[in-house]
Parts: sequence; structure tokens; C-alpha cells
Amino acid sequence: MATPARGKVAVNIDECKGCGLCVESCPPRCLELAPELSAYGVHPAHYTGESCTGCGICFYCCPEPGAITVYRLVPALKVVARQGDSHAATL
Ligand code: SF4
Ligand code: SF4
Repeated sequence: MATPARGKVAVNIDECKGCGLCVESCPPRCLELAPELSAYGVHPAHYTGESCTGCGICFYCCPEPGAITVYRLVPALKVVARQGDSHAATL
């Protein structure tokens, strides 16, 4: 069973130059170059929608400011004890 994604990426296709550095640098290989051309005539990076860890490597590799944004997803808090329990905690 696939683990839930811990991050996600948004690519601004108006800033992306299609160099592919982010695609090559992504450890879980969850970025690709889109088959369609952007208005600048390049194949922009595209997030496949799965497996991003939010590591940020693609962000640091990208030479174009504003082309790629990484979001770290915060897991929902899970209650492991009921209200009133003496050792209530959340994970
Ligand atoms: S944040 Fe990390 S895992 Fe997510 S797309 Fe970028 S390099 Fe890949
Ligand atoms: S590294 Fe930046 S400019 Fe290059 S393909 Fe990825 S998002 Fe586009």
C-alpha cells in the first residue's frame, strides 16, 4: 500500500524553462516534463500527483525564481486518548 504524500509541488509554467533539473533531482521521481508545450515553447515540469515527500530538493535545484513551490503537508492530529484521561496526548 502506498504511503500518503508528505508534500506537494506547484509549478508556475510561466516561469519554468523546462530545463529538467528538478525532474532529475527528485528522489522519488515524482516530477516529469509535461508533453505539452508552454507559451514559451518548452515542456514545463509537472508533478505526477503522488509520492512527494516535501524534501525541497527540486526547489533548491531550480534556477528560475518562482517556478516551483514546495508544500509540506501536515498530518491530521490523531487523538490517542479521550478527554478526561490523565495521559491524553495527540500524535
Ligand atoms: S519536494 Fe522532493 S519529493 Fe517533492 S517533488 Fe520536490 S524533490 Fe521531489
Ligand atoms: S528546475 Fe525549474 S525551470 Fe527547470 S524544469 Fe524544473 S521547475 Fe522548470
